[in-house]
Amino acid sequence: MALDKYIRIVPDFPKEGIVFKDITPLLLDPEGRKECLTMLLSSLHSKKIDKVIGVESRGFFFGMLLAEALQVGFIPVRKPKKLPFTTISASYDLEYGTDALEIHTDAIQKGDRVLIHDDVLATGGTAKAVCELVEQLGGEIVQLNFLMEIPFLKGRDKIKNYEIFAAMQ
Ligand code: 5GP
Repeated sequence: MALDKYIRIVPDFPKEGIVFKDITPLLLDPEGRKECLTMLLSSLHSKKIDKVIGVESRGFFFGMLLAEALQVGFIPVRKPKKLPFTTISASYDLEYGTDALEIHTDAIQKGDRVLIHDDVLATGGTAKAVCELVEQLGGEIVQLNFLMEIPFLKGRDKIKNYEIFAAMQ
């Protein structure tokens, strides 16, 4: 796919054996950004969205671009102890141990139609935790979208009840 040229493959980052997909060349290129944003927006097929979530930290870049294009609110979902107001938390499994994500309790009103954005869908643990946060606050998940999906890690299986779109595989 055309957008692939904006992704840099970095072997053994952040540790040996991991093949990291680096999105910073895409961020550097205004044409690439525009093309990618257009793809993400058109995948929504004009569905109504009330709020966009960006997942710390690489989900913030296009999450904010999406919120701006849709003219709706942006919600940062962050790692523990980063958000200053009252939060709820959802934990997820890592290769070794667990991690958690938090959201402000006033970020979503019951019935809000929410778009969740992150840069990469890998094992799906992160995305699943974000879905739990949205639903705990009474939001309705319209779509999860990603710049890139890594299909062999089968992240989709963890979020199979939701609509998913990835601009690249
Ligand atoms: P998952 O929970 O699906 O296994 O991992 C997804 C999360 O890890 C995303 O928030 C994403 O930013 C990060 N991630 C995992 N692998 C990569 C990668 O190869 N490249 C980038 N940019 N992020 C990754």
